[in-house]
Amino acid sequence: MKQLHFGKILWSVMFLLFVCTISARKPIKTLLITGQNNHNWPVSHVVLKQILENSGYFKVDFAISPEKGKDMSNFILDFTAYQLVVLDYNGDSWPEETNQRFLQYVQNGGGVVVYHAADNAFAKWKEYNLICALGGWDGRNENSGPYVYWRDGRLVKDSSAGLSGSHGNQHEYVLNGRDKEHPIMKGLPLKWRHAKDELYDRMRGPGNIQSILYTAYSDKETRGSGREEPLVFTVDYGKARIFHTMLGHAGETVEDNIAMQCTGFQVLLLRGAEWAATGKVTQKVPKDFPTENTCSYRKDYK
Ligand SMILES: [Zn+2]
Repeated sequence: MKQLHFGKILWSVMFLLFVCTISARKPIKTLLITGQNNHNWPVSHVVLKQILENSGYFKVDFAISPEKGKDMSNFILDFTAYQLVVLDYNGDSWPEETNQRFLQYVQNGGGVVVYHAADNAFAKWKEYNLICALGGWDGRNENSGPYVYWRDGRLVKDSSAGLSGSHGNQHEYVLNGRDKEHPIMKGLPLKWRHAKDELYDRMRGPGNIQSILYTAYSDKETRGSGREEPLVFTVDYGKARIFHTMLGHAGETVEDNIAMQCTGFQVLLLRGAEWAATGKVTQKVPKDFPTENTCSYRKDYK
């Protein structure tokens, strides 16, 4: 009888400890910048927030800029409260004050996620290009830095002349893992099939890639470059932790949004975002991750 009573107490204490552990995890305070993009940002920013918040790891605030061509002078952002900044912006220059505050945030060791066309922005802003490592379009050329791609088991820099930024037809393709010990990748398959998406090619820039995580072959048959292109990586920029994913071209609506509905896109975003904010990845490898032959979808972003 006494033993039974003790058992009950023990279980209650363990249950309480369990509850405390769950609730002790404070969500990572995240600022998502958007409002202008040559992409469907009204879809992408909502979806990014859903993916991040549905995981239970993040709490996302939006910074939505004025429309293209409108007065930007009041778009002054305060980064001090945030552990993570997600860039979903490709448009008019921010005010100098916001540029300086952003650089200060990053240079103080802030976490950043560079998402898809964010690496098209600000071709003439040197530090921004160092934060992305690679970019495309917006007049970039050989003066922006070399092409960077994967050849013979390593990244190569190619300074040949030419425009920067292209993609062929959207299609499904296989991502090839290159750093299986990196916390973002650890436990994920080295090969997995991504849902129909753009495959950015011929990107160029300072090329200060820290760890190349995934590349994919850009086939000339789908109007690609014929090169193995770096698509997911971290960036070497002082104390900052920067995760750059070129995946995830936004669809027409939240429901019709195949590239962002890919489980692989979502899981990598979540793992990359946690790493950028904290330097660690505590998320488990999910069972529904795509395989080399089969795509996997989380159509409701959880
Ligand atoms: Zn796109």
